[in-house]
Amino acid sequence: MAERLDRFMARANAAYYASHDPFADFTTAPEIGQVFGELLGAWAAVTWQAMGAPDPVQLIEAGPGRGTLMQDARRATARVAPAFWSACRVRLIEFSPRLRQRQAERVPDATWHDALDDVPGGPAIVIANEFLDALPIRQFVRTQAGWLERHVEDGRALDLPAEDRVDCVGQAPPGTVVEVSPAGQAWMSDLAGRLVRQGGAALILDYGTADGPGDSLQAIRDGKPADPLGEPGAADLTAHVDFAAMRRAAAGAGAACHGPVPQGSFLGGLGLAARTARLIAANPQRAAELSDAASRLASPGRMGVLFKALCITAPGLSAPPGFA
Ligand code: SAH
Repeated sequence: MAERLDRFMARANAAYYASHDPFADFTTAPEIGQVFGELLGAWAAVTWQAMGAPDPVQLIEAGPGRGTLMQDARRATARVAPAFWSACRVRLIEFSPRLRQRQAERVPDATWHDALDDVPGGPAIVIANEFLDALPIRQFVRTQAGWLERHVEDGRALDLPAEDRVDCVGQAPPGTVVEVSPAGQAWMSDLAGRLVRQGGAALILDYGTADGPGDSLQAIRDGKPADPLGEPGAADLTAHVDFAAMRRAAAGAGAACHGPVPQGSFLGGLGLAARTARLIAANPQRAAELSDAASRLASPGRMGVLFKALCITAPGLSAPPGFA
């Protein structure tokens, strides 16, 4: 039976994250260097001040992986921002029981939630790094016969008429692939609605391009590209995040939007160079590792430009750090 691509992707990723340690297959920014989580901790503390220092505040992370970002954030800023951390109720949105256990080793006082809807109300600071890229996408393919929708059957792509009316681009050369993430858009719109009603800000970091159509679905297995349609659950499936669409979804729900800006300039604005220099001064034996981590996170040829940061806030908040 042919299965629509987004349903295939949802099923494959649920199986993958339930049964694998994804970090054997790929490396994310918090795993590259402690400085990433540390700067995001400082971002969160400053943003909380700008919100009027609400106590309590829900500090929500979506898709926390190993819990490294949150652990680094707190360790680095607990002493300079004690009032912030005592106001924080740490909430982790995670669907993998296996990863929840890993997260509990690093963030023992967190509570876990299946979805944003389950997190208690009130002002919130939300962080999501490489979360949206794992949400299911639909793909529409321009053929001689018009637009078809990508399905998967027996490990192979099969293009069939779409079940519903979809607003694709009218004119495009045959072979054009357009991706849409209804799940990502719904997530952004729900998040924005919450921030508008209850206050707060969200920081979304992910990889993605803003430049037009194309098939960006990819699978990584053991650090190497694999066939995304092959064996569901054996590899992590991701797609580029369409930041323009995410921004539209948030703005449509009434949120103020900042960015996207390249990850390199975002981290630079938060003081990546100064923080790295301080870490090196305190740990001279780790100088090479610490400066390589900074370069990997922020250099244009590495993660600095492909990865982007988008911030959405309740209206009326000043521009958050890194988005000036
Ligand atoms: N933010 C972490 C991990 C990124 S991997 C890091 O940067 O290292 C993606 C994370 O999102 C994993 O923790 C995965 O289990 C979680 N995830 C993916 N899809 C999800 C969904 N639909 N609901 C809840 N969590 C999800």
